[in-house]
Amino acid sequence: MRIGGKLYVSRPISAGIFLSYKCSGECRHCMYACSSRWSDDWISEKDLEEVLSQLSAFIQPSPLGPDKVGINYGLHITGGEPFLKFKLLLKAVRIAHELGIPSIFVETNCFWCTTDDITRKRFLELKDAGLNGVLISVNPFVVEHVPFERIDRAIRIGRDIFGANVLVYQEIFYEQFKSLGVRGTLSFEEYLRMAGFRGLMFAELLPMGRACYRLGHLFEKFPARYFFGESCVADLTRGWHVHVDNYCNFMPGYCGGISLGDARDLNSICGGIDLEERPILKFLARDLKELFEFAVKKFGYEERRDGYVSKCHLCLDIRRHIVMRTEGFEELGPREFYFHLE
Ligand code: SF4
Ligand code: SF4
Repeated sequence: MRIGGKLYVSRPISAGIFLSYKCSGECRHCMYACSSRWSDDWISEKDLEEVLSQLSAFIQPSPLGPDKVGINYGLHITGGEPFLKFKLLLKAVRIAHELGIPSIFVETNCFWCTTDDITRKRFLELKDAGLNGVLISVNPFVVEHVPFERIDRAIRIGRDIFGANVLVYQEIFYEQFKSLGVRGTLSFEEYLRMAGFRGLMFAELLPMGRACYRLGHLFEKFPARYFFGESCVADLTRGWHVHVDNYCNFMPGYCGGISLGDARDLNSICGGIDLEERPILKFLARDLKELFEFAVKKFGYEERRDGYVSKCHLCLDIRRHIVMRTEGFEELGPREFYFHLE
């Protein structure tokens, strides 16, 4: 909600915590522009404790109970790829569990599921530490760098250990890859050759983050003015499925590269953000046209001739242009995000 010159962010009822932006792969659709090229920065145990203890007061369980999981409930531990630092992941689960946070799950691309033994051992250790479930990413972009057998193994063994608390995201691709008999990795071009565009029509492919640049050719494009008049106040202030990264940036929803403040001090965020101190947030809360005009006037931004696939593409392209020219906006962070989009 925006009242006067302040932005009031709702208390977070469900959240994801990034252990790092570092990933074993580099998906073309990644909303947070993760990859193996990122700095090897990981959240510290101290920050984990501070952030999770603040979140623990607000996080709500799945409607099915605190031992059950759901994408928009509870706490998910994510990245980047959290299994790249398994001990840190284990620590994060322990801290969250000891704080009484409900519906805890971890999100993975399964790169590490090289044998049945390793997969079972790690899932069991995490379950013992208090993990309630797992979200397994299955889509044509992950399978470009993770052999399908590893994903299949994680789902099979995950279901043995966590039962119905294995979220396969997205089930439609899992079934499609099985019916196509996919083995090993598969390039996106080869996937399209085998399956056509039909599967993608049912997929949730959000035109945000890296997808705007690497998958722009799949979407219809519009001129900037098409998105003028749109306000992002609801996206910026919602309390569900927010994210906190390893630098303690509190990110609204899926808006990679936007920081509402330091998640170790939730009161300063939920108690009202002074929009005069955060002009980019002010423009976004009012009208994307204001952000566009500001960027044109102050930073020489030029509208893309080929257009934009979504309002988030316009927003992101402008933010990236500004970040390349100044470090003056705290709300545009982490800066490195903007260097891994293409
Ligand atoms: S979508 Fe997931 S697996 Fe793919 S690069 Fe991003 S974090 Fe890594
Ligand atoms: S336009 Fe920008 S602020 Fe609004 S939802 Fe998209 S990424 Fe977030």
